Amino acid sequence: MSEARVRFYAELNDHLPREERYETVTVPFCPPLSMADLIVLRGVPTDEVDLVLRNGDPVRFTAPVEDGDRIAVYPVFESFDISGAGPVAGMPLRNPRFVCDVHLGKLASFLRMVGFDTLYRGDYQDDELIRISLDQRRALLSRDRRLLAQPGLVRKHAVASETPLDQLREVIHRFDLVDAARPFSRCLRCNTVLASVPRAQVLARLPERVRDAYDEFFHCGGCDRVYWRGSHFTRMAAVVSDLLERSKSERGRG
Ligand SMILES: [Zn+2]
Repeated sequence: MSEARVRFYAELNDHLPREERYETVTVPFCPPLSMADLIVLRGVPTDEVDLVLRNGDPVRFTAPVEDGDRIAVYPVFESFDISGAGPVAGMPLRNPRFVCDVHLGKLASFLRMVGFDTLYRGDYQDDELIRISLDQRRALLSRDRRLLAQPGLVRKHAVASETPLDQLREVIHRFDLVDAARPFSRCLRCNTVLASVPRAQVLARLPERVRDAYDEFFHCGGCDRVYWRGSHFTRMAAVVSDLLERSKSERGRG
């Protein structure tokens, strides 16, 4: 009998028995067995799988599972950076992108705050949300199960939590994103990635109390706002780092 060590990521865990979720599980098998066979035997539909890594390298569904393999199975999503995958990094970084429905504006800015590309407008219509999700391969976040039941929507999540911070924690956990977070790298208002900017370049636009109090400034090329690490930043940085730490420790528990 051969053995492989298998780990399913993110929402694929929904298909597994509770005690196997978010865990690396040793699976005994009799060769020959393909990756697709292995995935289906664990109860996971292959059309929900986007990427299979064997010992850190991407493989096809038809590739054989061999004794001693470490296999990582990732869900359908928008993109992966597998350049860092391997024994050291252990897993590829997901490059998640979202679109939030009109009731989740606060969640949208929290997602931007931790660095995730998130579209939101207060006047999105349902058909626009669906089109954006399909065309741009963005996960649609909503509390409206009727909206999420639209045929063809693959990337989606029904948000269960009530408060924006709990919703953020839920999304990070659900999509297995704790390692992909890049806090304070993105404009909260318009979603553009921020660029570091020399003080001299923005000096004239800064309030007097800010000019000499801070060294680092960031500019949004989308809406032309300037950011600095003021008291609001410090408060939110504490909230975010606490949330990411808790998400890391919760990850192991499924
Ligand atoms: Zn902006």
